[in-house]
Amino acid sequence: MGQYRIFQSCFWQLNSVVYHENKTVLCWDPAYSAAEIERIRAAMDPSGIVDHYLLYTHGDYDHIAGDSAFTGPLRVGSFGMAERRDKAEALGLIEAVDHEYYVRRDFPPRFPKLDIKVEDKGPSTQRLSDVEVHFFPAPGHTADGLFTLIPSMGLWIAGDYLSDIEFPFVTDLGAYAQTLETASRILEDFPIEVMVPGHGNVALRRAEILDRIERSKAYLGSLEGSERIKPWQESWGTSPFYSFLDKMHEKNIQQVRSQNL
Ligand SMILES: [Zn+2]
Repeated sequence: MGQYRIFQSCFWQLNSVVYHENKTVLCWDPAYSAAEIERIRAAMDPSGIVDHYLLYTHGDYDHIAGDSAFTGPLRVGSFGMAERRDKAEALGLIEAVDHEYYVRRDFPPRFPKLDIKVEDKGPSTQRLSDVEVHFFPAPGHTADGLFTLIPSMGLWIAGDYLSDIEFPFVTDLGAYAQTLETASRILEDFPIEVMVPGHGNVALRRAEILDRIERSKAYLGSLEGSERIKPWQESWGTSPFYSFLDKMHEKNIQQVRSQNL
């Protein structure tokens, strides 16, 4: 059995997870400011740790901004992430946000160079030193998304899905719907104790995870083939961050319309 800690950035409530088991440490999506990343780095290095891994749920800029602060760990992410064509754009977005909010970094951002590329055509299992992890392709938000599961802990790192503060941000509606089916199956097949979304609060109860899956499905349904733009609150519910979400809803609608052309 291992132990995990969740770090939440004050930027976008972005969640990073550090997991120790025996001589191995895994860290997902270290983010975002230099001070926050420093705390995560310190948590990854208690005595006795030999093998370090950084895992990426996907390659969006907010999730990869911390990569260059780490020298030792092996990088793990999907094949799709390794093949992204918008790596330079991701770095440009980090720079834009850092400039706007006066965020200083000692390590100029770089796009993670993956040492271990995970199959993204179907589920797979890998041993990362002492830790057995299951991976499931999770496209729809981005094409390169991955769910990671540590079955022995009931720990599920979901990346940018199943948030309680943001509805689905969609690039591919069909793929997103399939990923929600994968999420339903994971919940049926594994005794999940904790689900960590990319942004927002972790879910500790099955009913809560199920509710998030259902709300996401309802929201996707509302995007499908609608002539009239329906307020997102009708299908998904409320969020404290509604004015940003209004913009993202508009973006989703444009995206789905362009997919249907
Ligand atoms: Zn994100």
